[in-house]
Amino acid sequence: MQTGKINVTTENIFPIIKKFLYSDHEIFLRELISNAVDATQKLKTLASVGEFKGEIGDTTIRVKLDSKAGTLTISDSGIGMTADEIEKYINQIAFSGAEEFLAKYKNQANGIIGHFGLGFYSSFMVSDKVEIVTRSWKDDTKPVKWSCNGSPDYNIEEVEKENRGTDIILYINEESKEFLEDSRIDGLLKKYCRYLPVSIAFGTEKEWKDGKEVETGKDKIINDTNPLWTRKPVDLKDEDYQKFYHDLYPVAEEPLFNIHLNVDYPFNLTGVLYFPRIKTNFDIQKNKIQLYCNQVYVTDSVEGIVPEFLTLLHGVIDSPDIPLNVSRSYLQSDSNVKKISSHITKKVADRLQEIFKNDREQFEKKWDDLKLFITFGMITDEKFYERAEKFALFKNVDGKYFTFEEYEKLIKENQTDKNKTLIYLYTTNKVDQHSYIEEAKSRGYDVLMMDGQLDPHLINALESKLKDSRFARVDSDVIEKIIVKEDRKEVALSTNEQNDLRAVFEGAVKSEDHYWISFEDLGENASPVVITHSEFMRRMKDMAAMSPTAGMYGNLPDSHNMVVNVSHPLVKSVIANKSESLGSKLDELDKNIKPLKEKADELHKSRKDKKDEEIPQADKDALAETEKQLDKFEDERRSLLKGFGSDQKLVKQLIDLALLANNMLKGEDLSRFVKRSLELIKPE
Ligand code: ADP
Repeated sequence: MQTGKINVTTENIFPIIKKFLYSDHEIFLRELISNAVDATQKLKTLASVGEFKGEIGDTTIRVKLDSKAGTLTISDSGIGMTADEIEKYINQIAFSGAEEFLAKYKNQANGIIGHFGLGFYSSFMVSDKVEIVTRSWKDDTKPVKWSCNGSPDYNIEEVEKENRGTDIILYINEESKEFLEDSRIDGLLKKYCRYLPVSIAFGTEKEWKDGKEVETGKDKIINDTNPLWTRKPVDLKDEDYQKFYHDLYPVAEEPLFNIHLNVDYPFNLTGVLYFPRIKTNFDIQKNKIQLYCNQVYVTDSVEGIVPEFLTLLHGVIDSPDIPLNVSRSYLQSDSNVKKISSHITKKVADRLQEIFKNDREQFEKKWDDLKLFITFGMITDEKFYERAEKFALFKNVDGKYFTFEEYEKLIKENQTDKNKTLIYLYTTNKVDQHSYIEEAKSRGYDVLMMDGQLDPHLINALESKLKDSRFARVDSDVIEKIIVKEDRKEVALSTNEQNDLRAVFEGAVKSEDHYWISFEDLGENASPVVITHSEFMRRMKDMAAMSPTAGMYGNLPDSHNMVVNVSHPLVKSVIANKSESLGSKLDELDKNIKPLKEKADELHKSRKDKKDEEIPQADKDALAETEKQLDKFEDERRSLLKGFGSDQKLVKQLIDLALLANNMLKGEDLSRFVKRSLELIKPE
């Protein structure tokens, strides 16, 4: 027997391993099994080049628990180790400045372990003692047993071992008893080892016989050594992809598409990504892309490796070239990773383009579900936008799909305004904005459906990309003013008449509702009153609502515009009614107002170009007095008009109809409207 000290430059590495690596104790199993897989594959390589001439035999790696002895054993039939190799690979831990390094990376067990070839030593995180019993593939060497109890001292001695390969025996420590439980180990094997390329056996298969569960004596293999992503796409059918998807995510809905990645230059990467059918936000969180390194599961947090918008996808990525043993921030700046990320983007875009080209009907059918990903990609990834603009689709209110190019062609002629700006009309709600959509359609215009979560962002992106183009929601103004074709007709009312009519309409709306009232000549066949929502204000509010630091726009009340169509017969009759019932009273007031106004103008004129001290006090007093009187009469005039408006069923009815067309008439106001309507519909 030989004893010695493990060669670590730091006094004792084991307490450090135990102390700092606590968060990820469970990965010891992955490390040890990965070593066993490596040893097995090395043997196969030696056989294939003719160096190993013996029988390879069964290479199943076995994981066994012995609860009585308190051990967990991992056995392989790989190349094994000679005493010299143990000395070289296990005893000489090339490790300098261990403490310093560990202190720096204490929260990244993964990093330290892989980086410094400490895979095997991670077993000491969970063990009081570890033994290696191994027999090399080389004929003339003796099997040996190495053991170490977690101090830098080890023993090595010759032992009997019949079969080639290595047994790693862990004497599980008190705090780690969980790793002696079947279910815990089973869970870990499923997590880390499910797709390893060498069969892993844990326990035996059971069978139902005569109503009882009995042992069959057959190994229970826990992994699929030949997972889908390692196979050639030509050998695979749709069902295979679907089955694999359900193996990964048992309760997820059928995916939309899959993309088989197979890259060998300038880096190695394989994988299968799926476009999921997402029902709720919860689904996005749950089923993540899994990252593998040579079929060893590494992580399911792939941020930084795949572009952000593709983290919404599902599936598997396997690459030996992703440096897994470094911190995330390093990962994000790694040039290999950047290449991988942009390559995946390209592949995804290519695949979508291909489906679009080969089977547009399918593509259109799935568009509504796909749209979220593609929009997300387009607004966050310039490169993806450039590719996606060829296959991204617009959907109009009639459910027809168009590429951007097709759509531009469709509307170019009819929806270009007099300033040569192409106006894209859209709706965010087909039901609420129905009357506006109809208005637009009656002009031969087309209206897009833009009701997606990310559509406001997409619209911003499109406006900055598409030349001489603008997006406008159908209800952002009366249609003639959204797409202005020629210089508009002047409204036939004078400013004074408009002011009077404005007061009448103001009298008919509730004081807390704020409307900007304006007058247009829309022709006698258009609606008498239209409520619109300024595109600019709405977008400002929407954007503010989405940003965490809602600025001033977020606090603004909703502001609506009320457009009164002065050429509509009903509006004309409001004007006539007003003159009839208020005419003489207004004339009376005007008689008082007129001279006061003239006097005020006079006084203003006389003080023009004069400094304040040059104006005689008497003039100042006269002006103040005149304006006071003027205000009094004008107030009286306004309240007369407002009072008229608030008494007029017709005015109220016109406003309510406009609100109704907007789906804005609710509650008490709606009840009152119904009542008033019944009163107005007199029996014949
Ligand atoms: P790494 O695997 O990163 O090299 P480890 O500490 O896990 O670091 O292992 C050190 C070395 O010990 C391996 O490179 C390998 O040569 C040898 N080794 C470990 N486990 C086995 C095994 N099961 N069979 C044969 N050799 C092994």
